Amino acid sequence: MNRPQNPFLRLISRLAVLGLLAAACASAAFAQETPPARGANQPVDEAYTAKIKKYTTEPYFTSPLVDYLPASKTVPTPEAVLGDVAGAPGILPYAEDVYKYMRMLEKASPRVRVYSIGTTEEGREMIAVAVSSEANLKNLDENRARLAKLADPRSIHLDDAEADRLVSQAVPIYYITGTIHSPETGAPTALMELAYRLAVDESPYIRDIRDGMITLITPVTEVDGRDRMVDIYRWHLSHPGQNWPPLIYWGHYVAHDNNRDAMGVTLKLTENVLNTFVSWRAQVLHDLHESVPYLYDNTAGDGPFNAWVDPILADEWEMIAWRNVSDMTKFGMPGVFTHGYFDTWSPGYLMFIAAMHNGISRLYETFGNAGADTVERTLSPQEYARTWFRQNPPLPRTLWSQRDNNNYEETGLLTSLHYFEQNKRLFLKNFYLKAKRSVQKPTEEGPAAYVLPADDPRPGLQAELLRVLAKQKVEISRATSAFSVTLPAKKPAKGAHEKTTADKSAATATETREFPAGSYIIRMDQPYSRIADSLLDHQYWSPDDPQKTPYDDTGWTFGDLFDVQVVRVTDTKVLEAPMDPVKDIHAPGGISGEGSVFVINNTAEPALASLRYRLRDATIEAAEEPFESAGAKFNRGSFILRSVSRADLERAASELGLRVTALADAPSVKTHPVRAARIALLHTWLSTQTEGWWRQALDLMHIPYAYISTQTVSHEADLNARYDVILFPPVGFAGSTPAIVNGLPTGWGNPLPWKNTPQTPNLVGGNDSTDDIRPGLGWEGVAHLKSFVENGGVLLTVMDTAQFAASLGLEDSVSTSRGSREKIVGSVLRADLVDAASPIAYGYSDKLSVYCDDGPVFSLTSIVGARGFRRLGGESHTRPTGRGTLTDPDFTVGRPATELPAEPESELWESPPVTDEQLRNGFRVIPPAARARVIFRYAENRDLLVSGLVEGGDEIAQHAAVVDAPAGKGHVVMFSINPVWRGETRGSYALVLNTILNFDSLDAGRKNAEK
Ligand SMILES: [Zn+2]
Repeated sequence: MNRPQNPFLRLISRLAVLGLLAAACASAAFAQETPPARGANQPVDEAYTAKIKKYTTEPYFTSPLVDYLPASKTVPTPEAVLGDVAGAPGILPYAEDVYKYMRMLEKASPRVRVYSIGTTEEGREMIAVAVSSEANLKNLDENRARLAKLADPRSIHLDDAEADRLVSQAVPIYYITGTIHSPETGAPTALMELAYRLAVDESPYIRDIRDGMITLITPVTEVDGRDRMVDIYRWHLSHPGQNWPPLIYWGHYVAHDNNRDAMGVTLKLTENVLNTFVSWRAQVLHDLHESVPYLYDNTAGDGPFNAWVDPILADEWEMIAWRNVSDMTKFGMPGVFTHGYFDTWSPGYLMFIAAMHNGISRLYETFGNAGADTVERTLSPQEYARTWFRQNPPLPRTLWSQRDNNNYEETGLLTSLHYFEQNKRLFLKNFYLKAKRSVQKPTEEGPAAYVLPADDPRPGLQAELLRVLAKQKVEISRATSAFSVTLPAKKPAKGAHEKTTADKSAATATETREFPAGSYIIRMDQPYSRIADSLLDHQYWSPDDPQKTPYDDTGWTFGDLFDVQVVRVTDTKVLEAPMDPVKDIHAPGGISGEGSVFVINNTAEPALASLRYRLRDATIEAAEEPFESAGAKFNRGSFILRSVSRADLERAASELGLRVTALADAPSVKTHPVRAARIALLHTWLSTQTEGWWRQALDLMHIPYAYISTQTVSHEADLNARYDVILFPPVGFAGSTPAIVNGLPTGWGNPLPWKNTPQTPNLVGGNDSTDDIRPGLGWEGVAHLKSFVENGGVLLTVMDTAQFAASLGLEDSVSTSRGSREKIVGSVLRADLVDAASPIAYGYSDKLSVYCDDGPVFSLTSIVGARGFRRLGGESHTRPTGRGTLTDPDFTVGRPATELPAEPESELWESPPVTDEQLRNGFRVIPPAARARVIFRYAENRDLLVSGLVEGGDEIAQHAAVVDAPAGKGHVVMFSINPVWRGETRGSYALVLNTILNFDSLDAGRKNAEK
């Protein structure tokens, strides 16, 4: 590339002028800062340094902090394991090699310690490496005791003077996590080299960091995914000129979403990092990513910021981020910026563990090539544009290497560590203040507590919710006797626009509520009240917010999504209720009464399905109507068990938290069998991102299934011989109907295998394999699915796969469309129960909160070919122009009035009633028994939003949300919502589990239209 003048030389000379100005008015504090440079007497590893220079593609893609490697006589450099320098082309180490090096460092240097912090889903180890001075590592326990007091200000009675004393003595912890996103490959080598530098460099700048703080490093966060990625890269290196398979699986269950689990904490990596962050009482969690040129500090993104974040933290984000940009800009490194496009709303990101536990969350996007190739990279105009927050943007086109990436990562981290160390008293005091303000929540912003009543009909789901909070280190208490609190009175019904004096007084009125003994209380006067409040409260994202493209989900209220009662209490009297701390949370389960028939009430708890699969030999039936027995009421769908040993049932019920009643005789109620359906979970080779959450949920519930791909279905003519139910969860990314059927282009390029070989031993990991991921379901596969359903199978489809089923005619009576104005971004919506007699609805109440992400709009039809979409506010409800008012009859001059035939009325979610005109020669009419049955529908527009963002909600309001469409002898069950999402939607799991358990009786309770 020839340029008339190097723009960076211009830039550097301009910076020099600015630097002179800065120096002229520098404060005393500035003058004391150690310059970011190598020490005058620092010995240098010349050979390693020469390679750093060689692999750095432009002189301005490095800094004085990383353009050399300090030499050590005793401590091995990363070359000892890598065979070359960190970031060298063609070299991507497995996690095992990274750990091997970190342990070599530990052995050679008293400044390094390696800790095992847990294992992954596939049993691989995760580690954290502490690097600090000998003295700091020797005094870890004393230091931890000091930090623990700052982390829990109750332990020092919220005494600021004592906090100041601790702050002056404590050494802070800065925790860095690398390569959670497996195709973002640079961090492990950057962190190997960073650990080495921190351990051996004697430059004053590095010594400040080493002596003044502890750097904690998890070099590989997604270990299963890392090993798969290295496999793929090795395959790529040995197949020059060929396409290489995309990383179709990252972790065992989820791919990119592994960075969205910090609310539900369902993945091992989340749990392990959370435990490490909290047990070290770290101040910072800094997560490394590589998808934006060249270094985007997206800690302080665009708005809206998470409402539960302490403003002290918002300030810390800006301080560190802008200083970071400033430092790196002064090095002459282009493309370093902050602010940007990210919003900081959802607490689901891994880094947000810190934000929600009184620390500082940080995140870098550096620039990676998804491997260790050096590649000419061309950016989009959006990426290289100069904006107010990116005055020095990246270059439109440049040669980019993994070493460049490592230079940026290490330089960013070193300047961050140094700035943090220089201001550690401030940050430690803030750490204390944020914890103190968390403890003061009840008397400051509130609420005082959340209460989960002891009489909740879903104690199993309640226990699951509490266990999520316990994983988040939230303290949970349990009332030892009944207590009362004052609550705001229920709001007047929405839609009552007229505000009278009475309404106004009602708005400020209160009511008293008594909670029974045994109710759970989440006190807000605890250090981690922030995460509990954030998960349990409601969210509102205004459609008028300046941020029009939410980065992730906008709503997540856990009480609603778990279908359990959570009461927000602002009355501080709740804190005086007699209560004990709870350690073990377990729903009570077991058998009461005598007899050989056992009944279990159905309240839509997932444990019922686990029980069915656990007691495979038991005879289980479901009641088709509610009944009373032994003085208790039982809902539709309640289990009636026979041929089961009491001891087996007792053990299972107690472990699963199910309350069983033994009876001498079976209740007299209509029943059908509940069989352990043979389940297949169907995935594509386009993306396994979204179905992974379904696999995980089934595994955690111990419900067995066959994991099959669309390619399997294309070869399997008789699916009914193997399966009763095929679950086809959303495909998500790339999940269009043509792509599901056709797959990826096979007209050129080479096959893309996904299988274990000696060269790629980690790819499959207990998941699926194929010789070529490109072929899709094909028309054969479509035909096999069609005949599976026609012959009595149940196909369960969700969002994009429901659109797939409808558009290919796997059933006849539901069509799907996309709202043109609808904008629902990962929100919690209200759904209303329509057909309580359907087995799919067993155990549910009238209203259910559901997760919706721009779900398709379902329209039902009774006439083949009538695929018109029904919308709210249709003109059919008005009358033609004429005399009188809207409701008056019209007249015709010179003719007596005629009686108008009654218009058939129907609701928006229903199949439209068939008219006599349509029935005359009604060959297009779908028989009543073949029409779709609506189980749940979306609420009216005004009641639709529970949490998050809803815009254009009228397009989906009242439409069917869960539909059972008969097809031949079988069923296509269709969801517009996503009932299984990130471990957060456990209240709607039973919609899926009920479908499975009642697969051969889905028509129970069905009422057909008369014509
Ligand atoms: Zn990423």
